[in-house]
Amino acid sequence: MEQSLETIFETVVARNPGEAEFHQAVREVFESLAPVLKKNRSYLDDKILERICEPERQIIFRVPWTNDKGEVQVNRGFRVEFNSALGPYKGGLRFHPSVYLGIIKFLGFEQIFKNSLTGMPIGGGKGGSDFDPRGKSDAEVMRFCQSFMTELYRHLGEYTDVPAGDIGVGGREIGYMFGQYKRITNRYESGVLTGKGLDWGGSLVRTEATGYGTVAFASEMLATRGESFDGKRVTVSGAGNVAIYAMEKIHQLGGTVVACSDSSGYVVDEQGIDVDLLKQVKEVERGRIGDYVARRSGAELGKSGSIWDIPVDVALPCATQNELNGEQAATLIKNGVKAVAEGANMPTTPEGVHAFQGAGVLFAPGKAANAGGVATSALEMQQNAGRDSWSFEYTEERLTGIMRNIHEMCASTADEYGAPGDYVMGANITGFVKVANAMQAFGLV
Ligand code: GLU
Repeated sequence: MEQSLETIFETVVARNPGEAEFHQAVREVFESLAPVLKKNRSYLDDKILERICEPERQIIFRVPWTNDKGEVQVNRGFRVEFNSALGPYKGGLRFHPSVYLGIIKFLGFEQIFKNSLTGMPIGGGKGGSDFDPRGKSDAEVMRFCQSFMTELYRHLGEYTDVPAGDIGVGGREIGYMFGQYKRITNRYESGVLTGKGLDWGGSLVRTEATGYGTVAFASEMLATRGESFDGKRVTVSGAGNVAIYAMEKIHQLGGTVVACSDSSGYVVDEQGIDVDLLKQVKEVERGRIGDYVARRSGAELGKSGSIWDIPVDVALPCATQNELNGEQAATLIKNGVKAVAEGANMPTTPEGVHAFQGAGVLFAPGKAANAGGVATSALEMQQNAGRDSWSFEYTEERLTGIMRNIHEMCASTADEYGAPGDYVMGANITGFVKVANAMQAFGLV
């Protein structure tokens, strides 16, 4: 890292102690920015980097609720309103026991650049709670969501801050939160949340968007080498919303997904994962990957070290942060992987990223490859603002167009800055410059 960037980075670490994931996300962006600062010193003079690393507002609040036994529970809620240079704060809510301020800040920071890359008018934010939805009844989840929104509502608005889902937050949770927002404010403000149900203001394709978008981005990368998903063996880690729809799209394109996973382990299914069965197990029954194996002949629970030991042409990490490390990347490379695209946020460790890039593997960072989810959230906002609803085909066409455009911008920016094929640099620079220019236009705010 260049000296001026290193100095700023050290300050960020000192000002935000104990937030390892946030530091990692900042470092990854800073490592791309030296050529931009060389071209335009005014970003340094205007302290754009110091300002961009400091959230505009951070909200931490108590979320009390009662479980089904009538016992009082207390969780912690977060919303980090990171940057509103390009539009209202936009980004998901994560409900998972691992959530603390450092996770929300890493996600919020990434979201600024991801949202910029979509070309849509959305700023960056993220929120969530250390609440664990696993094993909770619908009534418990409802009471938690209502309590969470009873504080959060005052910070939201279609022109202010627009949350959506992330790990642990899907259609059910968005429904409970939208209901509570509407009740407290007495406003049917559709554009205040995205990922809504299709009967009450949601957009077609939003459910599929992150997974479909990741596959669209990976297809564009493969096409630069005259290849496609047709006939490829693929691993998709995870079995949540992103992973399931990535698998569905890969199968539509003629690829075969031979492995997927959840926090309880991974499954190898050489005939190709049965996506309908997986949806039934994970989305309807909220079960575990073992329930899939029990009902699918030929499928086996993985026995070796990790899902990344399986030889594949394409790997899509779609589970969670830092799930693919340097050693696992080396194994994938040794087994001939051609392309890796991140469906999750920051799933590859820095060592993993360097290994792939060093070996000439096509590598797409999450802030580009998984931007289809939030881009379709912006399309949902657009439909809500126009009191309109679009067809599946039209919405998917818009999503595919956005992903193509992101790919094109990342590739051409990497070329322009002398690093052809470096999608990490392309994504970071493209995302950053737009936000930085808007911040400069607004003066010191
Ligand atoms: N949580 C998703 C992401 O990481 C989606 C956010 C949204 O739709 O606002 O981008």
